Amino acid sequence: MRTIALYPGSFDPPTNGHYDIIKRSATLFDKLIVAVAENPAKKYFFSVDERTSMLREIVREYDNIEVDHFDGLLVEYADKIGAVTIIRGLRALSDFEYEFELALMNRHLNANVDTIFMMTDEHYSFIRSSLVREVARLGGDISDKVPPVVEKYLKEKLF
Ligand code: ADP
Repeated sequence: MRTIALYPGSFDPPTNGHYDIIKRSATLFDKLIVAVAENPAKKYFFSVDERTSMLREIVREYDNIEVDHFDGLLVEYADKIGAVTIIRGLRALSDFEYEFELALMNRHLNANVDTIFMMTDEHYSFIRSSLVREVARLGGDISDKVPPVVEKYLKEKLF
């Protein structure tokens, strides 16, 4: 059986922290689907198409990684694509409570899908998309926090 894992997120924008989780997860499963969330209740800085395009560019050289987007229930999307594992990343303790609730809720909704957590790399523990957007908006250097394509998209959108 081929194992398919799903890494869902806002990726608004994707950061080196996300990229690190993507690369490490892709070595553990036959196939990794990175899924960009489109939640109508949430306001995003980048459109779903922009976030998807950035991720596709980032993972271009990996044969076993695909990028897709989804709306609606994550566990239903997981079922649809045949994924039995959801990957999420953990940075500081502050991520834990939210991720814990989310994982339990998803398991409650669909007991066939389980969540696995990858610890952040120590270099990326302080990187989150909203902070990257803020630093970029104020003209700070983000070149070591995001892949080059993301830096380009941010500069084009902000300036
Ligand atoms: P969401 O809105 O679904 O939380 P994010 O794009 O903010 O979407 O995050 C997607 C996942 O990636 C989450 O599990 C988050 O904890 C994880 N993540 C985000 N930034 C990092 C990072 N720097 N290191 C490790 N995991 C991260």
